[in-house]
This record gives sequence, structure tokens and C-alpha cells, in this order.
Amino acid sequence: MNRNVFGGATPESCDCCGRDAEDCGMDDFGWLTREAGREYPGTYCLGCASLLGLVLWSEHCTLCGISAESEEAAEREGWRYFSDGWGHLVPFCAVCVAAEFGIAPPVVQHRHHH
Ligand SMILES: [Zn+2]
Ligand SMILES: [Zn+2]
Repeated sequence: MNRNVFGGATPESCDCCGRDAEDCGMDDFGWLTREAGREYPGTYCLGCASLLGLVLWSEHCTLCGISAESEEAAEREGWRYFSDGWGHLVPFCAVCVAAEFGIAPPVVQHRHHH
């Protein structure tokens, strides 16, 4: 299944840590591609993108603006990062991920609504 919002297939491996897409969670959590000619060109898993300072964590969903309690809570609830096309990863809540990209949210035992 092609999960890349922006049309490409899942990359084979991360250019930073060298793990393949499955091992470093690209399949599950997304990845970041930086074009040649920019700082840090390459394709990175979230862990490496975060280490390189390329992830823009925000507690608000990029699309609907709903907020998450924390990065951990967001991850648990099925938020995903996707490249914004400018070389940064931005967060989307589980609802928007499902609605926009057709990716089902994970089964969460206790879903808290505030
Ligand atoms: Zn990596
Ligand atoms: Zn949203």
C-alpha cells in the first residue's frame, strides 16, 4: 500500500541511520525527504529527522487545529507526521489522517475526549 501523502512510494531506508523503512518506522510514522541542494539532503526516518531538527512538533493538528496533550499522547492516538513539501514534517491528528489519507487510526483502548 502506498502511504505517502505526496505521491511517492515508501523509501527503502533512512539515509541517516541506514535502517530500512520497516525497522525505523517509516511505514508506520512517515518520513522526510529533503531535496539535493538543501541542507541535509536525503530521506530520513522520524527519529533522525527529529535529531537533525527537521521535525516541527506542534501540539496542534496541521489541518483541523485540534490539540494533543503531548507528543506521546499524540503518537498513542495515531497522529502522524507528513512532509509539508518544504522539508519539514508536520503533525496531523488521527481523524485527519484517516479522513485525508485513508489510514485507519490504531485501536485505542481508552480514548479520552476533552
Ligand atoms: Zn534514520
Ligand atoms: Zn486534525
